[in-house]
Amino acid sequence: MKNTYCAKTIFLVLMLTTVFLVQGSAQNDKSVHQFPELEYSLDALEPYIDAETMNLHYNKHHKGYHNKFLAAIDGTKLETTPLNEIFYNISKYDDNVRNNGGGFYNHMLYWENLTPDQGKIPADLKSAIDKSFGNIVAFKEKFNEVASSVFGSGWAWLVYQPGGKLVVTSTSNQDNPLMDISDVRGMPLLTIDVWEHAYYLKYQNKRGDYISSFWSVVNWEVVAERLKFADENCPK
Ligand code: MN
Repeated sequence: MKNTYCAKTIFLVLMLTTVFLVQGSAQNDKSVHQFPELEYSLDALEPYIDAETMNLHYNKHHKGYHNKFLAAIDGTKLETTPLNEIFYNISKYDDNVRNNGGGFYNHMLYWENLTPDQGKIPADLKSAIDKSFGNIVAFKEKFNEVASSVFGSGWAWLVYQPGGKLVVTSTSNQDNPLMDISDVRGMPLLTIDVWEHAYYLKYQNKRGDYISSFWSVVNWEVVAERLKFADENCPK
């Protein structure tokens, strides 16, 4: 009887230790939110976006948002929660998660939608743009107008909305259209960073020149790829 009790106790202690160790290792197994590699070198987007701006922007600004985001979610379930799910409920979290999570994601998208080897606009994307804006020229005009008129720091976006409509919108600071606090919501397809740190070294106060240059390095293939999966990731 005593031996059985003892064996049960040992078994229980072993079980609890195992549970504790598994939990401990899960928490130490850092978050799913990895800092992205750049697909091109820092000087690859010259002369449109200069290497010095890229270096500061990617290695300092973006890295800074990522580090602060990891600190803000350290030890919480957000370490393993996909970013889009965090953004769908962003109003429940504090400003550190909103600002740094947004900064982490928005820059990731921005690097992805730039390329030194620009191709033609894929047919599916072109017809979606034509349908919503009339034609590519009208779309670019709208995007330029929205990006130019962001007051202070923020981002302009091409987003997909349920049903397939594409719209251009902007957000302040590091907010994005996936967030439940955003006025216009949708799945981001293309974005431009219009914080001064994105262009000031090369373009100084001439944001319009930076926006014009941006079109020479837009990665249309990536935008078209995002359009294919936009519906399933679109905030409802
Ligand atoms: Mn930036």
